[in-house]
Amino acid sequence: MPDALPTTDTLPRHTPERSCVACRRKRSQAEFVRVTRQDGVWAVQTGNRSGRGAYVCSDSPTCWQDKKLRRAFGAQAAQVAAQLLERQPVERQKSAQS
Ligand SMILES: [Zn+2]
Repeated sequence: MPDALPTTDTLPRHTPERSCVACRRKRSQAEFVRVTRQDGVWAVQTGNRSGRGAYVCSDSPTCWQDKKLRRAFGAQAAQVAAQLLERQPVERQKSAQS
């Protein structure tokens, strides 16, 4: 009897990798900002996780340019880009306090 072919059950399970919608780089989920679409509107996720998600590098301003985001977010790329830029001071403030 020939060896059984590997099935999905035998594949190792590890932390799922995400890829940035702007640069396509694969990184761990912790290094991304999650953008979700709810009711047809894309927005940077701040609270509960729900809706369809996309990921953008959290530390790479070149990935926040609306022309790079347009492929994923279409006409809403500019507003997602603005939200990604806006979130930076908040993050810095948080890490300065801790
Ligand atoms: Zn990126």
